[in-house]
Amino acid sequence: MTTLARRLSTIAPSATIEISRRAAEMRREGLDIISLSQGEPDFDTPAHIAHAGKRAIDEGQTRYTDVDGTPELKQAIVAKFERDNALHYSTDQISVGTGGKQVIFNALMALIDPDDEVIIPAPYWVSYPDMVRLTGGMPVIVECGEAQHFRLTPEQLEAAITPQTKCLILNSPGNPTGTGYHREELIALGEVLKRHPQVFVISDDIYEYLAYDGWAFTTLAAVVPELFERTLTVNGVSKGYAMTGWRIGFGAGPKDLIRAMAMLQGQMTTNPSAISQAAAVEALNAPKDFLEEHLEILRQRRDMCAAAINAIDGLSCRVPEGAFYLFVSCQGLMGRRTPDGEVLERDVDVARFLLETAHVAVVPGSAFGLAPWFRVSFAAATERLGEACERMAHACQTLT
Ligand code: PLP
Repeated sequence: MTTLARRLSTIAPSATIEISRRAAEMRREGLDIISLSQGEPDFDTPAHIAHAGKRAIDEGQTRYTDVDGTPELKQAIVAKFERDNALHYSTDQISVGTGGKQVIFNALMALIDPDDEVIIPAPYWVSYPDMVRLTGGMPVIVECGEAQHFRLTPEQLEAAITPQTKCLILNSPGNPTGTGYHREELIALGEVLKRHPQVFVISDDIYEYLAYDGWAFTTLAAVVPELFERTLTVNGVSKGYAMTGWRIGFGAGPKDLIRAMAMLQGQMTTNPSAISQAAAVEALNAPKDFLEEHLEILRQRRDMCAAAINAIDGLSCRVPEGAFYLFVSCQGLMGRRTPDGEVLERDVDVARFLLETAHVAVVPGSAFGLAPWFRVSFAAATERLGEACERMAHACQTLT
């Protein structure tokens, strides 16, 4: 047996893996599985962006680039932050990586020493705690339940900060809840952070453009200028531009951190794909005419799906202001019995039941640090989403 590095023992396979494995197996058996577990929009990458990628190939932009991004892309990112967020960065404050995921991991690798604490509000994106553990740091999970709309409060933040606290990760709109922070809430968190100068902030803004009902996206470094020098603002093209497979994410922050991140990336992956970088330049610089239509489709799906789920006895969810997820409480199903006689005791049981009975794949909330809940992605095709909701309703009716 291979003796693997000890660091791997700090991370566990996520609860989602078993569900995904079973869903794939059932699909291979020819069953019609509807997956609501995907964290990506079902839209194609807009044509003008895809063409920019093709053009890059034809023009021979197929070689290594600067490790943390081409000058053109960094310039486009600087302009994006100016335009959208009133954040003023220079190109040496920008780092481009293979997705927002690599940027966040680079940042944690550059910031966290063993036993440093990183505050992560729960429910959280599955990767944050494991990334922190891989650096040797300690994730400090702060539960932010539905009663507080899944938002970290200033009191909770203050209570969680210790002399070992090195970093806070904020994500708005958030995965898995779609919850977005309001400006005043960020300012209130900023007041706490101002009192603790040792705390760095990673603001994960990857869902920035996916905002509904007039909720206005804002980001910490913009609303609390005192924190500008100790915030890494992370974003990318995956979600808003329907470019998940192109793998381009970026971060903006203090120059010393950006240099350290480039050094790490230079030893791990070198630059992200030159072709994808060229496409990302087009994405960032061209008008986002497609976005309005995407948002309208997503909003309709959100409303349809939330109404259908809230009509199911035992399930409930809030209607989120951003992203493309509903975070569904299945507390009301706990203790109920399936036709096979199984008693539902955890959200993993509910996810398995929905997969086996309704042939709908969802992700158990325990993977995101809050149970008993599950996450539904409404970025699936509208008809499939409608059918999935009907199937879930029928399945839940069979419970006693
Ligand atoms: N941050 C959050 C909250 C996410 O949900 C994701 C992807 O699911 C990412 C970051 C990373 O996205 P990417 O690496 O595709 O840019």
